[in-house]
Amino acid sequence: MASLNKRIAVIGGGYSGIASLVALKEEGCFDIVCLEKTGNYAGTWCYKEETDFGVASIMPTTHMVSSKEISAISNFPPRKEYSNFMKHAQVYEYIQEYAKLHDVLKYIQFNSEVTEVKRCDDFEETGRWTFSVKNTMTNEKPLAFVMVYLSARSGVHVVNRIGLNGIPYDYALFRPYLYQLWDIFPVKYVSWCLETGYIDVQFNHKLYPVVPKKHLLTKDPSVTSNFSAKLINGSVIQKPGIERFTEDGVIFEGETEVTKADVVIMATCYTWKFPLLEEGVLIQDDDRLNLYKCVFPIQLKPPTLAIVAFILPYGPGFPPVELQCRWVAKVFAGKCKLPSEKKMLKDAKKRYKTNIARYGRGDKVSIKVDFIQYCDEIAAEFGAKPDLLKYFFTDIKLFSKIMFGPSLAYQYRLQGPHSLDGAREAIMTCEDRVLYPLARRESNVHENIFKNLFRKSLLAMVF
Ligand SMILES: Cc1cc2nc3c(=O)[nH]c(=O)nc-3n(C[C@H](O)[C@H](O)[C@H](O)COP(=O)(O)OP(=O)(O)OC[C@H]3O[C@@H](n4cnc5c(N)ncnc54)[C@H](O)[C@@H]3O)c2cc1C
Repeated sequence: MASLNKRIAVIGGGYSGIASLVALKEEGCFDIVCLEKTGNYAGTWCYKEETDFGVASIMPTTHMVSSKEISAISNFPPRKEYSNFMKHAQVYEYIQEYAKLHDVLKYIQFNSEVTEVKRCDDFEETGRWTFSVKNTMTNEKPLAFVMVYLSARSGVHVVNRIGLNGIPYDYALFRPYLYQLWDIFPVKYVSWCLETGYIDVQFNHKLYPVVPKKHLLTKDPSVTSNFSAKLINGSVIQKPGIERFTEDGVIFEGETEVTKADVVIMATCYTWKFPLLEEGVLIQDDDRLNLYKCVFPIQLKPPTLAIVAFILPYGPGFPPVELQCRWVAKVFAGKCKLPSEKKMLKDAKKRYKTNIARYGRGDKVSIKVDFIQYCDEIAAEFGAKPDLLKYFFTDIKLFSKIMFGPSLAYQYRLQGPHSLDGAREAIMTCEDRVLYPLARRESNVHENIFKNLFRKSLLAMVF
């Protein structure tokens, strides 16, 4: 039976926080509070000139790297007027509209930084937590810290935002039937095919000094439309790793001369930690994190803590995060049960083993997920995964859109809890919203059949 008025604290009012509030409100049986350390919400997407309490902000020039339909919220299609790769202000507006539509801002307690999360003495019976919260308005100095890591560079594959036929790359590529290829064939083989048939045609890394050492699907690519253009017009010169620093510059590997430099920016990745969480909650075996589906600490009984958005998806983050929030709300409401500890551990071990084989060792290997497979996995946990077999027999148009079209979050509102009448419509009309911001607004995706056949036979020669 669903518990009534359980008190839930959401830490952080970024996209994940807002999606959590909406999902919790949707369940309708919680007292909710969201503790947000800054004076604003939307987290990363709330642009600030200065870093606020150590919370990073996007740059004035930031656009999303995943396109709007592929990143859409399942019950809230983005406006057709938004550009396909939304500018940060549009993402902010999108999150704002979503939060306002669901009236969840009232749950956010701003300027409240959680500094410690501990289990109560009676945790085993009640599953309750205690928090230490600091008011960031009255506290004099925020903590600011810088982490610098230096690593040997191996290069990454560069993916252009513009994909085949001039449509967003992810709209063209993030399709279930394509993602399923790497469940069937070895990842290296699928990577090679994509590199040869797709990436190299646009930007051949082999022409430049740093050739990616890893395959496309075994290391996150960099999504940018500018990099190759800057390389080819010489405004950026690619160099291998740094041998050493000198007084006024650096010496690159394989070179003897000093390249003078006034400023060095270390863009050397990040690591993760949960300084506010009591020790012993998030258990790590070697570098494997014991988190069920990257969300629930496996050994924690009762499961009253969930970590959302702690994933590195091969694809956009918004849809899997929203699904996590919906699932968590169901579990907290007592409407969905977690499997036994043994089963959860088996699942975490399996993901870890598969990821090690694909990416190699590392502290983030437990949280790497494939966008489509992971969304399906989470949706299946609470009954929102669409029944494709059913649609194959009852609605073939919808079936083809889901199977062969871009993977859209609206499909997780077709059936199951909190399904929506408009979900099918949102799937069928998504192309209109993609094409709208382009001036002609006519589909060039459906081309002449001969042109299509010609292109496919060319691709078939490569694949
Ligand atoms: C430059 C950039 C581009 C990106 N592009 C994409 C993209 O194209 N597509 C995509 O899907 N994803 C993208 N992402 C990832 C995207 O940021 C995430 O998908 C999403 O915004 C993360 O939201 P979040 O709420 O988990 O975290 P955040 O946005 O970081 O929000 C965390 C919130 O928690 C608050 N907080 C932190 N600590 C505490 C505390 N102790 N107590 C109280 N409050 C606290 C912070 O103030 C903040 O408001 C991008 C990220 C960056 C940085």
